[in-house]
Amino acid sequence: MIAEPPAAAAANARCWSCDRRIDPADRYCRFCGQGQGGSVAWYYRPVWIILLAATALGPFAILLVMRSPLLGRGAKWVLSIAILVFFVYVGWRMIVDVQDLLDTSSELLRSI
Ligand SMILES: [Zn+2]
Repeated sequence: MIAEPPAAAAANARCWSCDRRIDPADRYCRFCGQGQGGSVAWYYRPVWIILLAATALGPFAILLVMRSPLLGRGAKWVLSIAILVFFVYVGWRMIVDVQDLLDTSSELLRSI
């Protein structure tokens, strides 16, 4: 098979989100409006995904990881598992701490 010349490859540019054909010069998809290349929405950038996971979204930030066009398959898996492990650990620590608190308070009540 003959490799496509660069011009033909560029003419086959497709939107990462809706997979429709777009012009290689387009910064936003003319069908779904998603930013392309350097114009990809801020919340798909890895640094912002981590910040959103730590502040507002928690484990739901995995949805952004899975949709982000800026991360390869391997990076998506690594980041998703890291977020999942972190929040499972935080959840487990919360359960242990609440149990400790309940034990301490019931001991206090018994000593009254
Ligand atoms: Zn699109």
